[in-house]
Amino acid sequence: MKITLKDGSVKEYDHAMSAYDIAKDISEGLARAACLAEINGEGKDLRTVIDQDATLNILTTKDPAGIKTMRHTASHVMAEAVRRLRPEVKVAIGPAIENGWYYDFDTDKPFTREDLDAIEAEMKKVIKEGHELKRYTLPREEAIAKMEGMQEPYKVELIRDLPQDAVISFYDQDGFVDLCAGPHIMSTKGVKNFKLTSSSGAYWRGNEKNKMLQRIYGCAFDTKEELAEYLKKLEEAHMRDHNRLGREMHLFTTVDVIGQGLPLLMPKGARIVQALQRWVEDEEEKRGYLLTKTPLMAKKDLYIISDHWQHYKDGMFVLGNEEDPNAEVFALRPMTCPFQYYVFKAEPKSYRDMPCRYGETSTLFRNEDSGEMHGLTRVRQFTISEGHLIIRPDQVEDEFKGCVDLMRYCLTTLGLEEDVTYRLSLWDPDNADHYLGTPETWDIVENLMRKILNDIGIQYTEAKGEAAFYGPKLDIQAKNVYGKEDTMVTIQLDMFLAERFDMFYTDKDGLKKRPYIIHRTSCGCYERTLAWLIEKYAGNFPTWLCPEQVRVLPISEKYQDYAETVLKKLKDAGIKASLDDTAEKIGYKIRQARMDRLPYMVIAGEKEQESGTVSVRSRFLGDEGAKDIDAFIADVLKEIRDKTIRPNAPADEKDQKKA
Ligand SMILES: [Zn+2]
Ligand SMILES: [Zn+2]
Repeated sequence: MKITLKDGSVKEYDHAMSAYDIAKDISEGLARAACLAEINGEGKDLRTVIDQDATLNILTTKDPAGIKTMRHTASHVMAEAVRRLRPEVKVAIGPAIENGWYYDFDTDKPFTREDLDAIEAEMKKVIKEGHELKRYTLPREEAIAKMEGMQEPYKVELIRDLPQDAVISFYDQDGFVDLCAGPHIMSTKGVKNFKLTSSSGAYWRGNEKNKMLQRIYGCAFDTKEELAEYLKKLEEAHMRDHNRLGREMHLFTTVDVIGQGLPLLMPKGARIVQALQRWVEDEEEKRGYLLTKTPLMAKKDLYIISDHWQHYKDGMFVLGNEEDPNAEVFALRPMTCPFQYYVFKAEPKSYRDMPCRYGETSTLFRNEDSGEMHGLTRVRQFTISEGHLIIRPDQVEDEFKGCVDLMRYCLTTLGLEEDVTYRLSLWDPDNADHYLGTPETWDIVENLMRKILNDIGIQYTEAKGEAAFYGPKLDIQAKNVYGKEDTMVTIQLDMFLAERFDMFYTDKDGLKKRPYIIHRTSCGCYERTLAWLIEKYAGNFPTWLCPEQVRVLPISEKYQDYAETVLKKLKDAGIKASLDDTAEKIGYKIRQARMDRLPYMVIAGEKEQESGTVSVRSRFLGDEGAKDIDAFIADVLKEIRDKTIRPNAPADEKDQKKA
């Protein structure tokens, strides 16, 4: 038989050989490093015997598919280690993921860091023992009987869900057997440079109606250096992770009895969101937006017109008994658009009334799968300043540019613009029945969007098939600390919904015409923007956003009165200030204020009292020395007004990491 290798060379053998033996024939080193055999383009175990002409590519941990096989084998090694330490656990599933793998276990006791360390030590033993992973298949009924015999209910369920004609394979590593399609590396010995990173609860099959299992995440790399680098990055991401830091800073919390995806903003978090919202609303007003305040729910009749009832009902919270023909049925709103359309329709409009720019800070509700809920970013209720611009077709260019300008102003002010990428989401002409309108209209508006973006000078990518069904959109994408990308802000052009809601204006020529609509957000929904800011600044927000901007620290009780005078002055000036009147030593108070990520603390003692000054310490420069109170207040007010973003002194961040 002829074996064609990746480099095009051909090896000839007169008998069947395993891929591993062929690798060995090529070089001992290759065989040692081998993880996976790509036989005729398909990833297979190295043990696979080849008995006819084939192409063969031997992959190692340097290849993506090779390292994936090693990572997946690590999940079996981990499952065996867990089973040795906790014989009573039931095993569920353990796939390879980016950088590593996870495995879900049914156990009453969550895994602590100490448990993970012990499992890691046990894994090292399993690896050293060098068990070979051998594949075999069983007929369906035998496979089920085997897993029932081993009391593995999750595996039984998985087999029952496989198609009738599926090949059911197992991997045996000298006693530990796992249901698995494979492929795997030859021996547990090949698992290297790994670390167990975390553990968390996870519903069986991601469904909250199922039992909560315990998931352990691990990672593994080709080299020690890559592992070390990854762990360092992960540690930094963890320090910034909004779902950890936001809770630690008392910005938000979640409560089981209130519900998944329904975070509570605590006083400090609520203050930040209030500052953002006031700023955005004021900016909208400056830019000619008309404020509306419309209901958070509506009869289902509205959603029938908007098409939500037909296509999005599962994503809405429905109120009232749908089965009862006499009952009024409502739904909480998933978006603001149709409500603002009726504001537009409430009075006749002429071409002179256009553009109508409506703005509203609104709470929206989306009934998403609870398994997906996460901190402030995957939620079922959120608040957003939404705008709907109802415009004449000849106003598209100016108004769209205005929306882009508002969005960029918001992101630049928050220091976030450097982190975003722009995506022009277009329709998919091969899937035309998913969209309203004709190819000609889409062509015209998509080209207009390109022209607008090129005029502004925005770098963007194009994404076919990502448009809304009613028009193309500009999506502003950003990544969280773990590299997961989301759409944070969106500006959408809508050529068709005005017709559905029978919206029109009277043009110059006296004829009734359909307007276009722009749907836009400016800095995204407030919960998510808060999460973004927490991660961007590691909790060290720009002063204007800080829920506590200045803390007054009296050196001792003797200077309490003076400290209170200073506090009153700060508060009267509109600065968010507080007083640390605890009996702690000044050094402790300073450390506490730094750990609380205060931008400013002012120290009040004898010297300061006599001279009517305060000693200023900031997150930006450290010790700033004595300052006249009024001068200090003027500086802080200017910083707040200008929304200045000042870089932090490195020492401060180090302190916070230690905490
Ligand atoms: Zn497997
Ligand atoms: Zn809208």
